[in-house]
Amino acid sequence: MPRIDLLVLDRAAPETSIAVARFGGTPLVPPGFAWPACHACHGHMRYLCTIAEQAQARRHLVFMCQNSPGMCDEWNPDSGGNAVLPCEGADLLPADLPAQGNAIGAARHAARVETVEAAGYEDACARWAEAHPGRGREVLGQIGGAPDWLQGDETPACDHCGRALRFVARLEEGPEHGTAMNFGGGAAYLFACDCTWGGGKFLWQC
Ligand SMILES: [Zn+2]
Ligand SMILES: [Zn+2]
Repeated sequence: MPRIDLLVLDRAAPETSIAVARFGGTPLVPPGFAWPACHACHGHMRYLCTIAEQAQARRHLVFMCQNSPGMCDEWNPDSGGNAVLPCEGADLLPADLPAQGNAIGAARHAARVETVEAAGYEDACARWAEAHPGRGREVLGQIGGAPDWLQGDETPACDHCGRALRFVARLEEGPEHGTAMNFGGGAAYLFACDCTWGGGKFLWQC
C-alpha cells in the first residue's frame, strides 16, 4: 500500500523551530525581503504558512490576499491574488510586518509529518482519524507524493520553463474554525519548479 506523508498538528513545536510546516505568526524571511502585495487590490497579502521540503532543502513562504475575501481571485495560481516566495539561507530574520492590511491571521501552530499506509490521501486521513478519535481536524494536509484533487487536475505550469510544476503539499484550512485559512471550505495545493526560476504556485479548490 502507498505511504502517505500527512501533515499533523504539532502543538509542542517551539515557536522558533523550523518545522516542516508552520502556520501564522511572523514569518522568518531572508534579508531584503519585501512583503508581497495583491495584484488585484494592491493591498498587502496575508502570510499563511512556511512549508519546508526537507529532501530538497527548500522552504516556501505562502501568502494570500484576504483584504476582500473572494474578490481577488485568491484561489487562482496565476491571478496574483496569492504568492509563493522562496525562503533560502541560514540568516533568516522575523519579517517587518506591514502597518496596514490583513497581513497576519489568527493561526499560530506547526505541523509534523506522520506517515500512514493507505490507498490515498482520503484513506490516510480516515485511518489517522480512526486512530485518534475526535481529532480529525488535526490533519493539516499532505507533503510530497501526488495531489488528491477535490475537483479536476489543475497542476499549474512553470512560467519560466513551461513544464508542469512539482506537487509540494496539500493544505487543509486548519485545526479550528477561529484560526482557519479561507479556502472556501476546500483545500489548497502548493507546487514548485526545480528549474532556475526557484518559485512556486498556489491554488485552492472547494
Ligand atoms: Zn487583493
Ligand atoms: Zn520551471
